[in-house]
Amino acid sequence: MELSRTPDVVVIGSGAGGASVAWGLVSQGAEVLLLEAGPRFDPSVDYPQDRPDWERRAFPQKPGSRTRVLYGDLGILNADDRDLMRWSKVAGRDVPVLGSARVASGGGYSHVMGVGGSTLHFVGEAHRLHPDAFRLHSLTDAGVDWPMSYQALEPYYSKIEHAIGMAGTDAGPGRAQSRDFPMPAHPLSPGARVLAEAGRKIGRPWSVNPRAVNSRVYDERPACNYCGQCSRGCPLGDKASMDVSLLRRAMDSGRLTIVSEAQVTRLLLGKQGVISAVEVVSQGQKHRVETPQVVLAAGAVNSPRLLLASANAEQPDGIANGSGQVGRNFMETLWWNSAGLLPGLRNSHMGLPADATDWGMAHPASVPGLAGGYKLTHTTLDTGLNGPIGYAARLLPGFGAEWKAQMRARFGSAVSVGAVGQVIADERSKVSLDPEQVDAFGMALPRIDSVLTDNSLALLREMARGCREVLSRAGVEIAEETSNWDAFQSTHVFGTARMGLDSAEAVVDGQGRSFDHPNLWIADASVFPSSGAGEAPSLTIMALAARTADAILAG
Ligand SMILES: Cc1cc2nc3c(=O)[nH]c(=O)nc-3n(C[C@H](O)[C@H](O)[C@H](O)COP(=O)(O)OP(=O)(O)OC[C@H]3O[C@@H](n4cnc5c(N)ncnc54)[C@H](O)[C@@H]3O)c2cc1C
Ligand code: SF4
Repeated sequence: MELSRTPDVVVIGSGAGGASVAWGLVSQGAEVLLLEAGPRFDPSVDYPQDRPDWERRAFPQKPGSRTRVLYGDLGILNADDRDLMRWSKVAGRDVPVLGSARVASGGGYSHVMGVGGSTLHFVGEAHRLHPDAFRLHSLTDAGVDWPMSYQALEPYYSKIEHAIGMAGTDAGPGRAQSRDFPMPAHPLSPGARVLAEAGRKIGRPWSVNPRAVNSRVYDERPACNYCGQCSRGCPLGDKASMDVSLLRRAMDSGRLTIVSEAQVTRLLLGKQGVISAVEVVSQGQKHRVETPQVVLAAGAVNSPRLLLASANAEQPDGIANGSGQVGRNFMETLWWNSAGLLPGLRNSHMGLPADATDWGMAHPASVPGLAGGYKLTHTTLDTGLNGPIGYAARLLPGFGAEWKAQMRARFGSAVSVGAVGQVIADERSKVSLDPEQVDAFGMALPRIDSVLTDNSLALLREMARGCREVLSRAGVEIAEETSNWDAFQSTHVFGTARMGLDSAEAVVDGQGRSFDHPNLWIADASVFPSSGAGEAPSLTIMALAARTADAILAG
């Protein structure tokens, strides 16, 4: 039985971080046991995008694939900020929320649990951070600096880009590359071409968004067919989710064992601060797996949860928590989206989601007087304006024959722009254990507190301005705006076991190694000291994890 062997390394969690560290380790000869709480998904069976009701389907759920999270303080919606309220031409404005608590909606923190983690439903944007993102504190006086430079991470960015397969022209302004991407860029969709033209006119250029999606056959996987369903699960396997890319390749080595539906419930402390074993529940049985090295990669919510839940008499505040920083510094991302219809445009429902980007403000000091930056992306397809239900629910009010005529005339003319922005860590934002509620295995559920500071609200306004400016120059009649001002919903979360140089301020060092336990490593989004200025995080998570694999093997 797989769980009775002692591997060289146990990896907990198979998302962007866990898969990359496992791939890095087995490629260099190590035997790895990967324990994943969620189930397996089979792209050809589980992601049926050819059904008539495709538009009503989200990423499929299986038993054990839904993350259970509770929410604490998410902030109060101040009436002075009502300009940030969501609205749409169909639904109007949601006025009663003023003065009440911000709620988690649209799933809140909804990362899928499964072999591949949340890369199963990620869109495949794959970004390097700007070199200055590593120096947030030095540049803005806010947050903290990273314990490494862009140059130190660059070889790992390059290695991962070639392993998973990247298509595009380049990694973005200022992000020097030692090697070009292995595949040419995807063609721009009709909506992206509209934005590129409008951006050119206002002096804010748009460029091809770097994507971990095949533009030709690569890594024994096919080219994209532009079905536009990336976040519902890619049925072809051209999107480099971890199950079809790094984990498949790691399995080919014969040195990786993956046990799915196996939840680690505790890290067990041995002598001299060493983690001697992990406790895992699989098929209803509790097992103890001995191991010389442990890599925790359960994501920025479940990694601190496991560390805190592993408290014992010697470590009453949790494992690896000598700094008191486990669970602290939780960072969501800001997002704003404006969408509308452009008279005369055709076929904007076709193409690759998130295919174009404006990097102009993706720098931590891009907005005078504020800390943090943001990035604009073409979002017509990934926000669901690629089918008639999306139009009817959001953009085209009315009914009857006149409405049907409108739908026929205007379908394919939607254009949407999304901004993702940086949150600076705040002491009120954290992941902790709920004092009462537990899951099926008796583990305390994680609770998220996350508030938007004045800096965040001001940046959100800048993001709204950026989205509106380019749409208005393009001639789009804006018909819907949404943001996370009135809804906590974060696809990118960070910071809850941050890396740093000082063991009093950070949980792990710059290689991902715990300051308190020499054989415990963390390799997921929780180690980010800051989030970057709106860049999608998975490529950086993977690069950091590949670097951690090298450090583990170096001893
Ligand atoms: C809809 C959506 C779209 C996104 N699009 C993009 C994008 O285009 N580009 C991008 O870069 N990012 C994107 N993201 C974000 C990205 O997916 C995540 O930031 C990233 O995958 C996080 O990687 P991770 O390794 O930290 O954690 P995860 O990928 O969440 O992996 C953690 C894994 O650990 C497992 N686990 C948890 N607890 C335990 C336990 N106790 N025992 C065993 N296993 C456990 C979980 O089941 C999970 O599989 C998107 C996210 C979402 C939700
Ligand atoms: S658009 Fe391409 S990457 Fe996205 S789901 Fe379709 S085939 Fe896969």
